[in-house]
Amino acid sequence: MATNITWHPGLTRAERTTYVNQPGFTIWLTGLSASGKSTIATALEQHLLHNGYSAYRLDGDNIRFGLNKDLGFSPTDRVENIRRISEVAKLFADSCTIAITSFISPYLADRKLARDLHDEGQLRFVEVHVDIPIEVAEQRDPKGLYKKAREGIIKDFTGVSGNAPYEKPVDPEVYIDTSKESVEEAVAKIVKYLTENGIISLPKEGAA
Ligand code: ADP
Repeated sequence: MATNITWHPGLTRAERTTYVNQPGFTIWLTGLSASGKSTIATALEQHLLHNGYSAYRLDGDNIRFGLNKDLGFSPTDRVENIRRISEVAKLFADSCTIAITSFISPYLADRKLARDLHDEGQLRFVEVHVDIPIEVAEQRDPKGLYKKAREGIIKDFTGVSGNAPYEKPVDPEVYIDTSKESVEEAVAKIVKYLTENGIISLPKEGAA
């Protein structure tokens, strides 16, 4: 049996942050389909990793096909989808990782729940509104989803179907209009917010 193991009854956040050498928090991207959330999230994740930070992206690919594969797009399922994502992001943040979530998350109440969960855990929550005029989103339509929604093939499509509104953030920490700002500018804007508010420094102090 190992004799040289020290066991803590439970690490405090401060101890964990010191060992891991970085804070954990959540960057919550919200916006219409095709606004650019996944593109910006991917670029941001890479930028943070290149600068020595541990960051992890939660998006439809790794959540909708796994943890939440039992959920659809009805209002009830959308609420549960975001609730679970919020809890998972919070766990990542608590483990001193930067969680980057990239989901439409159309309802104000759901995003408030995500924020409240982080507040309860004393973890920072940075809401980023990835905005775009819906006409531009429809022109982009990288997955052909708007076309299908207009044809009625997809029901409950945010911004198109009458029963699926997008409720804009009232006071997000960061606002980006991807019809005017490039991916690089969007990443720089988020990083500027993080550094100016003392959440991280770039490059990371003490990084190899
Ligand atoms: P979402 O995750 O919001 O559904 P995606 O990132 O999957 O959106 O798709 C957005 C599309 O728009 C991509 O094809 C991307 O290359 C393109 N795009 C054009 N300009 C921008 C921009 N400034 N920011 C982000 N994406 C952009």
